[in-house]
Amino acid sequence: MSEALDRFVAEREQDWVLQRRAFHREPELGFTEVRTAATLAARLAELGFEVRAGEAVMRPEAMLGVPSADQIRERLAAVRAEERLRPWAQAMDAGCTGLVAELRRGAGPVTALRFDIDALPVRECAESDHRPAREGFASTRPGLMHSCGHDGHAAIGLGVAEWLAHPGSGWRGTVRLVFQPAEEGGRGAFPMAEAGVVDDADWLFAAHLGCGLATGEVAAAGVEMLWSTKLDAVFHGRAAHAAGNPQDGRNALLAGATASLNLHALPRYQGATTRFNVGRMDAGTGRNVIPDRCHLQLEVRGETEAAAAWLEDRAREILDAAARMHACGLEVEVMGRTASAPCDSAATAIVSAAATDTPGIHRVIPEYSIGGGEDAPYLMRRVQAGGGAATYFLIGSDLADCHHSVRFDFDERSIALGVRLFASIVERASAGPPTRVHRGPTPQDPDVGAA
Ligand SMILES: [Zn+2]
Repeated sequence: MSEALDRFVAEREQDWVLQRRAFHREPELGFTEVRTAATLAARLAELGFEVRAGEAVMRPEAMLGVPSADQIRERLAAVRAEERLRPWAQAMDAGCTGLVAELRRGAGPVTALRFDIDALPVRECAESDHRPAREGFASTRPGLMHSCGHDGHAAIGLGVAEWLAHPGSGWRGTVRLVFQPAEEGGRGAFPMAEAGVVDDADWLFAAHLGCGLATGEVAAAGVEMLWSTKLDAVFHGRAAHAAGNPQDGRNALLAGATASLNLHALPRYQGATTRFNVGRMDAGTGRNVIPDRCHLQLEVRGETEAAAAWLEDRAREILDAAARMHACGLEVEVMGRTASAPCDSAATAIVSAAATDTPGIHRVIPEYSIGGGEDAPYLMRRVQAGGGAATYFLIGSDLADCHHSVRFDFDERSIALGVRLFASIVERASAGPPTRVHRGPTPQDPDVGAA
C-alpha cells in the first residue's frame, strides 16, 4: 500500500489543508455543526459511503446542553441556498449533527473511527502574527473559533475516507466513520453511543491532535482521562431597591458567590484525583438593584466514576444550601458529562505498529496522560461492552499556543500524518479476525451518562 498511499497523499494533501482551513473559517458550536456535518456528508456520499445523519445516528433524548432552536435554525439557514448541502442539513434540524458513514468490502471486522468536529466560544486573535489571521483563514464568526483542532480532525476524517474509498487501499470488512458533534462540554458521544452506532464494532479508534506532543510524535493510549459532570446552576432571587427596601430583596448574586466560595472549599477525595471549577458567574442588572438572578457554570471531575459522583453530590448540596441561606430558588441542569475508559492493549498495539511504520513519525509513546476530559470513552465503553477493543490515541502536532487559546493553531503537516496513520490502522485492524467475544445485545449500563 505504501507507494500508492505515498502518491495519494502527495496528490491530495493540499486539498485536505484547504478543507481544514474552510472548516476553520466557519466554526460551529456543539449541536449546531450543520455546515461542517453537511459538507462531510455530501463528500462522503460522493465517495460511495452509505451515510446516515440526524436522528438515525443520535438519540435526541440523550442529548445534554442542546442550544436554543434559534441557534440551530441560524445554522440551517446558513446552508439553505446550497443545493448540495440542503438535504443533509434537513436531517439535523433538532441539533442532531452527528454522521455515520460506512463502506463495506466483503467479510471481515467492523472497524470504527471517530472524529469530533465542533468549535469553541473563543474569539480568535486577529493579529498578523497569528497564522490563520495572516493567511486569511481566521474565523469569520465572531466569538467562535476552532481552538482545539477539531477542524483538523474533520479534515483527517475526510482524507481517510478518500483513501479508504480508493481502489489502492487494502482493507476488508466494514469501515465506519463516526463524525461526532459537541465533544466540547462532553455532549455528543453519549447520544451517538445510545443510538447504537458502534454496538457491533470490533474496533474503535479515536484520536486527538496536539495535546502537548510535537509533530512526528504519537501516543498509542491517552490515559488518566477524568470523569466529569458540567452543571449549570441558576439562583432565582427577588429584585428590590438596594437602599429603599433591601429587606424585600432576595440576593441571587450573594447566593451564587456563597456557593462559589464553598464549592471551591470542598474537601479532596482520598485515593482519586479530583478537579473542581466554577468557570462563570453572571448576575445582577445594576448598582442599586438587589440582583434577582445568578447563573453559575461549574464542573466536577474525578479520576474514577465514584470520585466524580461523590464530588457532584457534595456540589449539589452546597448549591442547595447557598440558595436556602439567601432564600433563593435554585435550578440545576446537567449540561454535559465525560467518562473514562481503558485503552485496550490489542488496539494500542495496532496504533503503535501503524505509527512505527508511518513515514514522518519518529517517536511512539505507549501511554500519555491527558488529564482533561473527553466523551469518546462513552463510545469506547460501548464497543468494549460488546466484546470489541478500543483506544484513544494522540497525534502530535506543534502548536502555536495551548488548546482553547485565542492563538491556537496546529502544524498542518499533522493532517497528512493523521491520514496515513488511520489508513495503516484500518488495514491492520481489518486484517485480523473479528475481536468480539460475543455478539449479543449490548448490556445497558445504568451508570453511564444518566442525567
Ligand atoms: Zn479537543
